[in-house]
Amino acid sequence: MTEYKTPMPEAGEYDIDIATGREKSPEVGRIVCDGLVKIYKVEDLEVVALQGLDLIVESGEMVAIVGASGSGKSTLLNILGGLDTASAGRAWVAGHDLLAMDDADRVTYRRWTIGFVWQQTGRNLLPYLTASENISVPLAVAGISEKVRSDRVDELLDVVSLSHRRDHRPDEMSGGEQQRVAVATALANQPSVLLADEPTGELDTDTSAEVFEVLRSASHDLGVTVLVLTHDPLVSGQVERTVAIRDGRTSSETVRRNMGDEVIAHDYAVLDKVGRLQLPAEYVEALNLDRLVRLELEPDHIGVWPDRDPEGEENDG
Ligand code: ADP
Ligand code: MG
Repeated sequence: MTEYKTPMPEAGEYDIDIATGREKSPEVGRIVCDGLVKIYKVEDLEVVALQGLDLIVESGEMVAIVGASGSGKSTLLNILGGLDTASAGRAWVAGHDLLAMDDADRVTYRRWTIGFVWQQTGRNLLPYLTASENISVPLAVAGISEKVRSDRVDELLDVVSLSHRRDHRPDEMSGGEQQRVAVATALANQPSVLLADEPTGELDTDTSAEVFEVLRSASHDLGVTVLVLTHDPLVSGQVERTVAIRDGRTSSETVRRNMGDEVIAHDYAVLDKVGRLQLPAEYVEALNLDRLVRLELEPDHIGVWPDRDPEGEENDG
């Protein structure tokens, strides 16, 4: 685990290649969640927001976590971002054991390892500062010299294709442009992981695609791990891998691959450590599966049958 007690290095002494932004070790942007549980206590009531969530995201990968409202997305983001702690289970981000961090570690972790993009631009950007000044803030706070700061701001404005907006304040930009500046600001301190909670929640489809384009370049060109949490199932068209979260647990995954001009999407169920998986609701309904199913191991697959004979009669055992 990284020792936090010493001052963080100046840009350039980083564990990340400053020219490409790419990591030097495979741990740099890796996310591992192992049986994460989060229980909120509200007076006498317990709300189980995460019920043993498993997830692995490789360094530099871009993944969308999709789930209905209340499925536990923001809870997961707050834990991974060091804003809250899990009730049980383990999580590692970029080589940091999140359960072993104290409050001071978490402050450093949030500043240097994680970049945040929120749904509301008001939470991402200061309204009275221009685009370049907003991007500059985290660099100034980190004590980066003015020369390095101004080069880095130019570079980041270029990454999000907004060099022509450098002297505009948020209210002089469109919603999509504001979110792109927010991405640039989140990338300023060269985080290994970018966490975005409903970053396109207030945008229309076209504008939202522009924001995803920028998030993709953060992942592909800079090697940053990007995790987007959203209730919008349509975003799966924007990323290679979509993980569905249901009742505080990851339930299925869709992986999209470009094959020439075609995009092939494969759907997977998530198999947890003890062998549990969730059958899609439409499969369960189509065969009218109920409580007990018969399993049969074949050489290369497993068959699942309703607990009835083919004529539809119930089996006696
Ligand atoms: P999502 O972001 O997917 O909409 P959340 O992570 O916000 O879901 O919430 C998951 C569950 O945890 C919900 O039932 C929600 O009501 C509950 N919850 C979230 N935050 C708190 C909190 N601070 N106190 C109590 N319950 C909470
Ligand atoms: Mg949420």
